[in-house]
Amino acid sequence: MPSSMPAPKIGFISLGCPKALVDSERILTQLRVEGYEIVPSYDDADMVVVNTCGFIDAAKQESLDTIGEALAENGKVIVTGCMGANEQDITDVHPKVLDVSGPHAYEQVVGAVKQHLPYRKPHNPHIDLVPPQGIKLTPRHFAYLKISEGCNHRCTFCIIPSMRGDLVSRPANDVVAEAEGLVRSGVKELLVISQDTSAYGVDTKYRTTFHQGQPVKTKMLDLCRALGELGGDSAPWVRLHYVYPYPHVDDIIPLMAEGKILPYLDIPFQHGSPKILKAMKRPGAIDNTLARIHRWREQCPDLTIRSTFIVGFPGETESDFQQLLDFLEAAQLDRVGAFAYSPVEGAAANALPDPVEEDIKQQRLERFMRTQAKISSARLRQKVGRTMQIIIDEVDAEGAIGRSKADAPEIDGVVYLNGETDHQPGDFVEVTISASDEHDLWGTSTGAS
Ligand code: SF4
Repeated sequence: MPSSMPAPKIGFISLGCPKALVDSERILTQLRVEGYEIVPSYDDADMVVVNTCGFIDAAKQESLDTIGEALAENGKVIVTGCMGANEQDITDVHPKVLDVSGPHAYEQVVGAVKQHLPYRKPHNPHIDLVPPQGIKLTPRHFAYLKISEGCNHRCTFCIIPSMRGDLVSRPANDVVAEAEGLVRSGVKELLVISQDTSAYGVDTKYRTTFHQGQPVKTKMLDLCRALGELGGDSAPWVRLHYVYPYPHVDDIIPLMAEGKILPYLDIPFQHGSPKILKAMKRPGAIDNTLARIHRWREQCPDLTIRSTFIVGFPGETESDFQQLLDFLEAAQLDRVGAFAYSPVEGAAANALPDPVEEDIKQQRLERFMRTQAKISSARLRQKVGRTMQIIIDEVDAEGAIGRSKADAPEIDGVVYLNGETDHQPGDFVEVTISASDEHDLWGTSTGAS
């Protein structure tokens, strides 16, 4: 059950050179993803992080003065950055600081914030944007890029709008600047997240912003174009999560076909019966959705579609459930997650009649998973023999583990490169696929890419 505790506020002061700024961006990105709010002043903040500079004496003095001011105004201060490399320089003057770390110590700073100002929303797979493992282990070569808060929909099983309010989109130039900073700091894959990525900017009337003199509209297509242009020769992968099945999603498929952003769409369809979709207050025209999926695949044959579904929603009859299985067969989705419906406190769906009995829910969930497992295995089998670009996530004594463009970290499958120990996390390599199962692939690298 999500906590209704308001998000803690972090004041952030970044002193020093562009490299320190890149560190600040990584820390801010991570804090934002974990639900902390970033505020511009000491007084509104529950805690202050000072990213220091220790390059010359004047910069050191400025850092010490800033820490002193933050302690006096706020009291709870965490120090990071170049001057923190020598902890005693800081603690001798300011013994009350809560934690000191050196440059590029993203994990330590975020860990210290969480230790001294804990904010942990219990994980709820229906509403959380990032899997719990994703938050703990986000390695340096991928980062979650949060583009908005809140949601304008009112799906009856969901309490996000009542907890976080209506959609508030970040200005496009802010998001693009953050993404640029992440790419500069070595991020190779950007995972775009929000409650509803396709609604991005609707609250701002798609306001035009300016990034380095170029107009960028606060709109999904324009944002995708701008993200697709980042990085020059070291262009990152850009992956879209939580896209609502609106008609204008059609507009970004050409960008995927051109390789500007990954041919990957994470669209929670939730059900395949128009009656249940209506009860969920989701778009109910499932035939249009199917036609749209087929058109997308014609335009971009490599498109991977991941989705989530709820089984056993109140009022779901055997015939509704059969329509859901029929939808799965017709849509041939690549990756699917499913949950048996369980009431969330405060959700409108709790008042709906005809709840489905627990054992029937579980039976349906198993039938659903069996149906999809066959589809997923068959789709993965089609990849055997192909050569594709893989990003490496981990390397140990047994070999490397990576992911293809079709696999988002933590939620999808992986590609095992057995015995290949000379890769580094974040490397892009060309791999020929030799085997598959229901989730994962195995292959051998044929070179860097
Ligand atoms: S689209 Fe629906 S499920 Fe998603 S956050 Fe909005 S109300 Fe909740």
